[in-house]
Amino acid sequence: MKFMTERIAREGRALNEDVLLVDSFLNHQVDMELMRQCGDAFAEHFRGKGITRVLTVESSGIAPAGMAALALGVPLVFLKKKTSRITAGDVYQTPVQSFTKGTRYELTVASRYLPAGEKVLFIDDFLAMGEAALGVARLVKEAGSAIAGIGIVIEKSFQPGRKKLEAAGFDVFSLARVKAMREGAIEFVEE
Ligand code: 5GP
Repeated sequence: MKFMTERIAREGRALNEDVLLVDSFLNHQVDMELMRQCGDAFAEHFRGKGITRVLTVESSGIAPAGMAALALGVPLVFLKKKTSRITAGDVYQTPVQSFTKGTRYELTVASRYLPAGEKVLFIDDFLAMGEAALGVARLVKEAGSAIAGIGIVIEKSFQPGRKKLEAAGFDVFSLARVKAMREGAIEFVEE
């Protein structure tokens, strides 16, 4: 989508060949008008798939996923990366390798917010190795629900996430697809 690639081209900063920083509109300061556009684009793509719930992972997925949930008129649930006494109790949990931190965390959701029989749209800010999305998919399956689609704000197409998700049978829709990056230069997959 032009609105997203233009914004990344203008404000994104490749930290190195693997990590893209978009702190001015997505990962720290959040441009809510842009998030509205993201939500509308996701809703337009996935409308007709019978989505009943939008899931994301804290924290940077919440803004775009929230706008998609609003546009689709369904609940938003974010999965937690850290557990606390508040999340203790009846939960679904699975280990996930963090791409940016290089550590593992327990992706956690209270079972009451992930009932059986739901058609889930998973939305995230970035797609790299696909670990977060595959973790969410494991929990959704365990809960007796199904992933009806995966929406990504920024896909790094030179990393294996999309291939892994497609091989697992998921419909992946990304608003921007980065083909390659190096310090000072970001290239996109042609739309
Ligand atoms: P994956 O699970 O696909 O390997 O990585 C996705 C998660 O890692 C996203 O939720 C995002 O938080 C983080 N991530 C991956 N690559 C980047 C990146 O280039 N920049 C930023 N800011 N976050 C990233």
